Amino acid sequence: MQYFHSVTLDQTKCKGCTNCLRKCPTEAIRVREGKAMIIPQRCIDCGECIRTCPYHAKVATTDDFASINKFQYRIALPAPALYGQFKSTQSIQQILSGLLGVGFDEVYEVARGADVVSKAVAAKLGATDNKPLISSACPAVVRLIQVRFPELIGNIVDVLSPMEVAAKNAKEEFCEKHKVPVESVGVFFITPCPAKMTSVRNPIGLKKSYVDGAISIVEIYGLLSAHMKRSDFTFGGPNASLKGIGWANSGGEISAVGNSSALAVDGIHEVIQVLEEIENGKLPNLTYFEGLACHGGCMGGPLTFENAYVAKNRLRTLMARAAEREPEIQITAKEEQQDISFAQYIAEQPAMKLDENITKAMYMLENIERITAELPGMDCGSCGAPTCRALAEDIVKGNATEMDCVFRLKERVKNLAQQMIDLSNMKK
Ligand code: SF4
Ligand code: SF4
Repeated sequence: MQYFHSVTLDQTKCKGCTNCLRKCPTEAIRVREGKAMIIPQRCIDCGECIRTCPYHAKVATTDDFASINKFQYRIALPAPALYGQFKSTQSIQQILSGLLGVGFDEVYEVARGADVVSKAVAAKLGATDNKPLISSACPAVVRLIQVRFPELIGNIVDVLSPMEVAAKNAKEEFCEKHKVPVESVGVFFITPCPAKMTSVRNPIGLKKSYVDGAISIVEIYGLLSAHMKRSDFTFGGPNASLKGIGWANSGGEISAVGNSSALAVDGIHEVIQVLEEIENGKLPNLTYFEGLACHGGCMGGPLTFENAYVAKNRLRTLMARAAEREPEIQITAKEEQQDISFAQYIAEQPAMKLDENITKAMYMLENIERITAELPGMDCGSCGAPTCRALAEDIVKGNATEMDCVFRLKERVKNLAQQMIDLSNMKK
């Protein structure tokens, strides 16, 4: 089955400016013949290029809102990042009620799924010596590990993401309560990022996702804002704890899991630095790693409406109001005892490997080193590759030539001109 990518290029808008080249954490972008292209095996759908492109040529494919109409019953799964998006919100309940207003029959908070996951992760941490465990919650980070750090796959905690757990429980509860068949119920995640959309189509730890579609926060924002001002629908929540809601921010997960030797890092390039240290055994005392691709965590997702810092502040206010309720929400014993382990192992997808054959890979590596040393080392990007080394790799793989380097080309033209002058002098 072909891997689905949410992030794609709109060629008609691309000006070939190369801004996106160096921001890509997996060197998945090349600019050839004046247009960017994405190497699909390397792309982790982190959305860095969406943020960077000044011409909006990088786009995220998500499901459109009308797709909820394919189902007789529809459940909204709001990411907690949604709660910080609206200017004059008085309570989280107002947002959840608005979701009923726009056409959903039920709302199930992903933050409640996070409550269940926090307990499961804490239990796994207590039962293994394989440290550090790495969070499975950010699909861009999981894919990064598959592509660039395959040796660390065994460290990914085998617990489904809050989104999947919420979708599973939402469907089961709805079908049981209303005595309807599962096929008639569609569950839609309100997503802050393209990586989540990708993980609905290529699920992590599952053969098939429990989620039926992902609608971006940007898409639903206008409609939802309008319905939040009306009062004809009332949702009886929120039904998640403050710690579950706190998963929207970087560090929220480790605070909910409650582990003192854990580390939370946000921003994909910073996550890469920590994964390199883990791979090299430089963090021996680390027990748990929460890596989030976006700065600020899910609040900073490229498909959110509001600036991450503003949204974070608003969420803090809403959480302070919600904290006045007593007692704090707890998950049920049934939720705590359910098995939310992976049903399927995460496979390696080592896109950075040069060749399966080790001898051939070594030979290619030698050539890459030699060619890199001959290139100017300026990493200027004018060849369409992010670095001189990446160009050397493209040359060895047969996807580029040394003449793609403007400096090498200039040198060659100069040499040819000199040869012609020498030839004409000889004839005189
Ligand atoms: S989504 Fe991320 S990995 Fe994919 S091309 Fe853009 S920057 Fe690179
Ligand atoms: S940033 Fe990348 S995708 Fe956007 S116009 Fe420049 S080259 Fe094209």
